Amino acid sequence: MRKAIYITFIVTILIAACQPNSPTRQDGKKTVVVTYSILGALVKDMLGDRANVIVLIPNGQDPHAWEPSAKDIESLMKADLVVRNGLALESSLEKTLSLAAAAGVKSFVASDHITVRKVGQGGGISNAGSEQNVGASDPHLWTDPLTIKQVMVAFSNQIKADLGLDLSTQAQDLASQLDSLNTEIIALVDHMPEGNRKLVTGHESLGYFADRYAFKLVGAIIPSLNSQAEVSAADLAALKTLIQENQVKAIFSEVGTPKAISDAIGKETGVKVVELSTHILPSDGSYFTFMRDLAQTIVKNLL
Ligand SMILES: [Zn+2]
Repeated sequence: MRKAIYITFIVTILIAACQPNSPTRQDGKKTVVVTYSILGALVKDMLGDRANVIVLIPNGQDPHAWEPSAKDIESLMKADLVVRNGLALESSLEKTLSLAAAAGVKSFVASDHITVRKVGQGGGISNAGSEQNVGASDPHLWTDPLTIKQVMVAFSNQIKADLGLDLSTQAQDLASQLDSLNTEIIALVDHMPEGNRKLVTGHESLGYFADRYAFKLVGAIIPSLNSQAEVSAADLAALKTLIQENQVKAIFSEVGTPKAISDAIGKETGVKVVELSTHILPSDGSYFTFMRDLAQTIVKNLL
């Protein structure tokens, strides 16, 4: 029943969006709808005021747990271009995105333009005992500035082809800023003893960061790429052993990490629990501040 209502609703919006007399924006600018706030920050950096940018998932919300509203679906159906992460980050939007694509709404999928990280054998969430995660595609591509650079260069090409906006100068500026950010993080991480570069996180969200800056993924409280997955007593027991064996200096909890569980693991292992922002933009809305804060928090707590 719910499904039938949903489909009727989508079809109604679809028809409305396709009407020739549907309202157009007064300013004549194109509208780019971005699903996720962190990608949205970069899209805004590149587009400036040359297009209207709408971000769907409110900053501060766990993207893995988000559900679209009727207004979000309407925005998507009316977009000139939809920008999304891909790799199941926006799993609740899949149906709407397919309908939008069928209606001719253009889309840019960030993960189509990078080397996708796969969960590795013998590290991170595959340490939880089961090998079911090995080979799974990791959606957290924003935790590496050079992966994001590839995304934004591809985005500038697509926006030229799809919307006729030439952003090559902005793309070059953004690419060089991302290179500088990478250099800055390398310098920061260089202060750390190599043996301390070990990560335990709320879920496995820092794989791209770990690959770029040579950190070892020890394990995750929720042994999944998705913060909403289940965790068993056996998983937690295995994680406690790994934390002790690896002499991990800090446990990083994130959005979506159950506080009672992270606190209990911290207490039982005697390791401090530190809140780390991996999915939420800081108050200035900048990707660059986000990455600096992330790297500084990690380095400071693992020294
Ligand atoms: Zn995540």
